[in-house]
Order: sequence, then structure tokens, then C-alpha cells
Amino acid sequence: MTRVLVALGGNAIQPAGGRGTWSEAVRRMRRTARGLARTVAAGQELVLTHGNGPQVGDLVREAELGEPEVPAPPMFVAGAESEGEIGLLVAQELSAALARARTPRVVVPVLCRTEVDARDPSFRAPTKPVGRFYTAAEARRLRARHGWTLREDRARGGWRRVVPSPRPRRWLEAPAIRAALDLGLGRTCVFVVTGGGGVPVVRQANGGWRGVDAVIDKDRAAALVARALDCALLVIVTDVPGAAVGFGRPERRWLRDVSAAELRRHLRAGEFGEGSMGPKVEAVLEFVARGGREAVITDLPSLSRALEGRAGTRVRGVR
Ligand code: ADP
Ligand code: MG
Repeated sequence: MTRVLVALGGNAIQPAGGRGTWSEAVRRMRRTARGLARTVAAGQELVLTHGNGPQVGDLVREAELGEPEVPAPPMFVAGAESEGEIGLLVAQELSAALARARTPRVVVPVLCRTEVDARDPSFRAPTKPVGRFYTAAEARRLRARHGWTLREDRARGGWRRVVPSPRPRRWLEAPAIRAALDLGLGRTCVFVVTGGGGVPVVRQANGGWRGVDAVIDKDRAAALVARALDCALLVIVTDVPGAAVGFGRPERRWLRDVSAAELRRHLRAGEFGEGSMGPKVEAVLEFVARGGREAVITDLPSLSRALEGRAGTRVRGVR
């Protein structure tokens, strides 16, 4: 069995442009689960991770509206809530799809924390927008009340909260999941780990950890998880068939089998969107540079073919 980490993007969980209802998510996840079940039926030892951007956005907004009556939790708590919410969705739909494919597995979502460095430069220059747009007056109030950083987005006419996006340093639950897989539990279970990159925590002087209001890029976390679990393959599932050069221009060309050197050249040349395709390309490069066998960026319809090397942007390591 090949140990594979599949990282699901937003589009695999909730359709873009919908209302964000639970039933929409169930329908979408049902489709995603069918694709994932095929990979398990093909003999892969599957581990899953996923993004959480829209879900955290909704939870933060809910908390904001409920504030007069129910105290709003810190943002990192919303991160933990989203791991539960999406973990439930995956557990329900994937276990059903696996049973139908006659490869039953227990789907086990794990609440995960990811250590970040308190001195990460992103804490001094937060960039990742979260939540809705505010007026200038609201922005002043929120800054005074919560100490948030808010930035004006002139093009879209409003102010938005921005939070840091520090690099993930260590996945705290890694030793437990690694031991479970090495004992053979991957034959009977599918673990769902580091949803939304995991809840960001920083190490404290007393040896404990403290949650921080930040977002961890799920693709960066995926590279860390794939290494920690010694996965042979990292698959990033998004809403485009792969990484392209000339994206959004008439000369667009999808990359298929590509060397790490060539991919790195395109990355440096700015071919990949910052905060979208860029982190995926960085994640696959980091994975193969640190001993990973193979990494693929693909979309759900191409997933099975990508696992056979017939679709997606694929980079191979030297191992
Ligand atoms: P996910 O939720 O899967 O992480 P993202 O929106 O973060 O999805 O990233 C996927 C998006 O990256 C694509 O929909 C595409 O619009 C964008 N993108 C930016 N640059 C490129 C590129 N060079 N090739 C392919 N997609 C790109
Ligand atoms: Mg993304």
C-alpha cells in the first residue's frame, strides 16, 4: 500500500457561489467522497487534510452577530470548530462512500494543533484578510476594541481585518498518528488531520502552548504532514487541473510532468498566484526536496488519473 496524503481545497468541500448551507456541503462532499473512495479501492493508504477558509469566515461572522448575547471566542477557537464541522462532514460522507465501494474504513477526524514561531515575520505584517468588509468608522471601533489590524481595500471599497499567516513549524499530534499508521491502522482507518492547517499555537515558557489568532496555509501544513507521516505521495486537490504557466492569458499551458528545477523557475518568475497556486507549488517542491517520492496538483475529476500519473502537475523526487 502506498501512503498518500490528499489535501482538499475549498471547492471539494463547499461549492463556490452557493449560499454556504450544510446541505450544499453534504452534496459536494458526497461527490468528493466518491473520488476518494476510488483511490482507497485502488489500494492506497489514504490520509486526508483540508482547507477551512469559508467556514472560519462564517464562524467569525456568526460570533460577531451573536456578540451582544453570547461572548465571541478567539479566532483560533473558530479554527478548532471548523475542524469539527468539516471533520463531521468528511466522516459521514466518506465512510458511506467507502462502505459502498466495499472498502469500509473508520473515518477518524483529529483535532490538530500546529506550532508556529512567535517571531515569525508575518506577526509584524499581517496580510491574510478574514471576515467581511467594514466602513472606516467600524474599522476604527474594532481596532480600539479588539486590537485588530484592519486594512483598506480601495478597489472593493471597505476595510477588512487581516491576520498573520505564519509558517507551520511542527504538528503536535504527528507522533500519535505516525505511530498509529506504522502499527497498520491505515488499513482500517482514514485519519483526517490538520484541517485548515491546524489550530495555530505558540510555545510558552512553561512548556505549554497558547492559541494565536492567525491562519496557517493548509498547503504548507500539508507538506509538513506528508513528511511527518512519511507519505510516498502528496496530492493537492483544487479547482483547476494543475498549475499552469501563462495562467489567465491566451498562451496558458498546463504543466504535466515537470522537474522540481523547472517548477521552481516558474515560481520565481511569479507564474503562480500568491495565496492560491503559489503555496501549492511551494508545498510540492518542499515535499520532494525533503525526500518525498512524488507530489501532484490536480482537481477532483482528474484525481484517479492523476494517481496513475496520467493527469495533473506532477513532480518527482529523487528517492
Ligand atoms: P484551494 O481552495 O483549492 O486552496 P485556491 O483558490 O487557493 O484553491 O487556489 C486555486 C486557484 O489558483 C485556481 O482556481 C486559480 O484561479 C489560481 N491560480 C493562480 N495562478 C495559477 C496558475 N499559474 N495555474 C493554475 N491556477 C492558478
Ligand atoms: Mg487556497
